Amino acid sequence: MPLSAQRSQAEGGGPGGIRKPPRCPRRADWIALNRRTGEIVPASCRANFCSWCGPINASHIAGALALAGPERAILLTGLSPNWQTNRHWMRESTYRLRKVLKGELQLAWHIEPNPKGTGHHAHAWQRGPFIPQRALSEVVASVGMGKVAFINRMRGNPNKPLGYGLKLAGMPYGMKTITETEDGLATYLEANGGRLVHTTKGFWRDAEGNACGQREAMKAWASRNRTATLVEEGKWEAMPDERRPGFTRAIAQQRAAEYMARE
Ligand SMILES: [Zn+2]
Repeated sequence: MPLSAQRSQAEGGGPGGIRKPPRCPRRADWIALNRRTGEIVPASCRANFCSWCGPINASHIAGALALAGPERAILLTGLSPNWQTNRHWMRESTYRLRKVLKGELQLAWHIEPNPKGTGHHAHAWQRGPFIPQRALSEVVASVGMGKVAFINRMRGNPNKPLGYGLKLAGMPYGMKTITETEDGLATYLEANGGRLVHTTKGFWRDAEGNACGQREAMKAWASRNRTATLVEEGKWEAMPDERRPGFTRAIAQQRAAEYMARE
């Protein structure tokens, strides 16, 4: 068991806190099974807004971001409380930066409310041409954001998930109570139009460094880290938990028959 999981268990929910369920609450009476391997796991809904699945999606995205090999981390300030405004500002900034830099600028980003309720900021990860701090600052200010912008070179490690500022979304074992997770997750999603991350077209990379879509990038990360439910996605099917005994019996009989046929 990962250390963080142990810690989370040891801490429990605290006084008045609610323990996080050990599975997706939206598919509580369902299992996912793999007819080929006989594996059975708790079913999950995979929705970003789900208190169980959202943080898992977030952790796969954190890994996929590392696979994409970003070269610089960016922090933008003075964003709007309005998601549509921020989306427009980010698109416009990307467009203007590409014009200034004349290069294949790739960006992944998300919005976060400032911790003390003093507005919003954006985290971004960039691959492509060098962006002088001053050029960045001028461009984002020209679209309406704050002038204060930071860009730092980062040492990429494709084996290590990006921090990705996902505290709000709640990493799988990082949060103690459902209520905390749901609040954080809901706040995060509201600030991001329901999504966990936004990217320019062409940002994602698979494990071989080839261009791919977000889902493929998340799978590439998961397959590296052996989270089989995501890797073997196509082969899994859901069924009510009450049908589990019949299914396991059928698998056992099938295995026995295969064994006899080989003898
Ligand atoms: Zn779920």
